[in-house]
Amino acid sequence: MSSEQQADFDVIAVGAGFAGLSLIHYAREAGLSIRVFDKASDIGGTWTWNRYPGAASDSECYYYCLTFSKELLQDWSWSVRYPGWEENHRYMHFVADRCNMWPHIQLNTQVLAADFQEDTGLWRIRTAGGEFTCRYFISAMGMISEPVIPEFKGMDTFKGPLFHSARWPSEGLDYAGKRIAITGSGATTVQMLPVVAQTAGNVTVFQRTANFIMPAVQKQMTPEWEKEIKANYDAIIAKCRNHVFGMAFDSPVGRTIADTPPDEVQRILEEHWPRGSFRFVFETFDDLLTNPESNRIVGEFVLRKTLEQVNDPDVREMLTPKGYPFFAKRPPLDHGFFPTFNRENVKLVDIGNREPIVEITETGIRTTKQHYEFDIIVLATGFQAYTGGQEALPIRGSNGLLLRDKWEDVSGSIMGVFAAGFPNFFMITGPQAPFANLPVSIEENAIYIVNCIKKMKAEGHDLCVPKAAAEEAWVAETADIHRQTLMAQGDKVHSWMMGANLANRSPRVLIYFGGANVYYDKLRQSAEAGFPEVEFEPLAG
Ligand code: NAP
Repeated sequence: MSSEQQADFDVIAVGAGFAGLSLIHYAREAGLSIRVFDKASDIGGTWTWNRYPGAASDSECYYYCLTFSKELLQDWSWSVRYPGWEENHRYMHFVADRCNMWPHIQLNTQVLAADFQEDTGLWRIRTAGGEFTCRYFISAMGMISEPVIPEFKGMDTFKGPLFHSARWPSEGLDYAGKRIAITGSGATTVQMLPVVAQTAGNVTVFQRTANFIMPAVQKQMTPEWEKEIKANYDAIIAKCRNHVFGMAFDSPVGRTIADTPPDEVQRILEEHWPRGSFRFVFETFDDLLTNPESNRIVGEFVLRKTLEQVNDPDVREMLTPKGYPFFAKRPPLDHGFFPTFNRENVKLVDIGNREPIVEITETGIRTTKQHYEFDIIVLATGFQAYTGGQEALPIRGSNGLLLRDKWEDVSGSIMGVFAAGFPNFFMITGPQAPFANLPVSIEENAIYIVNCIKKMKAEGHDLCVPKAAAEEAWVAETADIHRQTLMAQGDKVHSWMMGANLANRSPRVLIYFGGANVYYDKLRQSAEAGFPEVEFEPLAG
C-alpha cells in the first residue's frame, strides 16, 4: 500500500443476510478485517424481514444455501423441500455459529451514509452508533429488500394495522377471525393467501395484474433423499454454477416443442407438472423461453392446469393473465393459491380493470365501485429491486457523486458489482447482475470481490476505479440481451424486473438476462485477466 492512512477495517459491508455471511467467510479467509452492519436485530436479511405467514424459499433447500464449507453442507439437515422463513433463519444462525462469524457482525446498526474520501482513499461510514472507516465498502443489502409502499389516498387514516408484507409484525399478529385485505398478487401473496385464509374471518385480494403460476409441490425431506443429496454435493454445486438460473437442474434437455409432435408435447408437460418447482420451465423443452409459439403452448397449458382448480368462472377470468407471455414476469410458485379462491371467506377484486382503488379509509378500502371493511390491511406491493437498498442511504463516490443520482435514468453497473464513479466500492448482486438462485450468485460475487481486493493488497494498489467505458459496455450488452427476451414483448410486462413498479422512476433494464452461468464465467474470466474493467491506481498526491 502506498497510502499511509489506516482504516478501522479493511472491509465494511452492509447487510447480514446470505451476502454478509458469505463475505465474512471469504474476507476472513483472505486475511482481511471485516465488519458487517445490519439495521435489523438479527442476521438473516430476507428471512428476518419477510415473516409473513407462508413465507418460504422458492428454491429447493439443498441448493438454496452457502457452499463454502463441505462440513456445513453435510452437517445441516433440512426438514422440507422449500423451507419456511423460520427454518432458513435457523440455518443462517447455524452458519454464523459454526463459523464463529458473530464477532464480525454488528446488529441494530443502521448505516446512515457512506462517503468516499478523496484525500485518504478510505470510505467513511456513518452509523447511528458512530463513524467508522474502511478501505473497501461493500453493499450486501440484498436484491429484493427495499419495500415499495404505494401512496394511496387516506392511507394514514386507517384505524387497524396496515403494513408492508416485508414488515409483518415480528412479535406476530393474531389475525384469527379478522377481516384482512391483501393488496398485490405477486409471489408474496401467492404464498401468504392459502395460510392466512385458513384462520382469518375473511380475506380479500386486491389484484392489479394476474400471474402465470406454477406448482411448488412441497415435500418432506426423507432420510433416503438427504443421503442422496449429501453424497452428491459436488455435482449439485457444479450443476448450479452451470445453470442459467443458478439452480441444480438438468439443462438443456435437448428437445424443443417445435420439433416434438403435439401429443408428445402435452404428455411431457403433464409428466413434469406434478414434479413442481421451476424445473417445469427448465427441464421440459429448450425453446419455451425463446420461441413465441412454444411459449404460447406452454402458457396455455399452465393456465389450464391452474385455472381448472377454481370453481367460479368469473374468478377464473380475473385470474387469467393477459397481454404478456409466460415467464415474462417472474412466476410465483403455488402452495394452494388457486383452490383457496373456492373458500367462502376469500374474495378477489380486480383493481386493474374493473374497480381501481380510490382511497383507504378509517375502516377499509374504497374502490370505484364500493367500500370494503377491514381490520387489517397488508400491502404485498413488492420491492424496489436491485437498487432499493443502495438508494435508501446516501452513498457518495468521487466528487460527491450520489449513487441515487447516478442511477436517475439508467441503473448502470459493471456486472452488478462495480459502479463507475465509486472507487473501492462493490455490490453483491447489484443492478444488471442476473436474476438467479441467490446464494449461488452471492457466493460468486463474494469470491470475485475478495479476489479483486487480494490483488490490490498483493500489488500495493490504493484504488480500484471502475472504468466508465466498461460500464457503458455492460449497460449496452445488458440492454441488447433484454431486447431479445420475452421481457421485451407485449405491452403489459409490468414487472419489478424493469423497475416498472416504481412511481418515481422510468422503467429500465435491471437484470442481465444472458444467463447466470454465462455471467459466472464472465466473472471468472475477468478475475483471471486481472480485472480489466477497473483501473488500479495509487492515491493522488
Ligand atoms: P411483486 O411480485 O412485485 O408483486 C407486487 C404486487 O403488488 C403485484 O401484484 C403488483 O401489481 C401489486 N402492486 C404494486 N403496486 C401497486 C399499487 N400501487 N396498486 C395496486 N397494486 C400494486 O412483489 P412480491 O410478491 O413481494 O414478490 C417480489 C419478488 O420477490 C418475487 O418475484 C420474487 O422474486 C421474490 N419473492 C420470492 C419469494 C420466494 O422465493 N419464496 C417469495 C416472495 C417474493 P402489478 O403486477 O400490476 O405491478
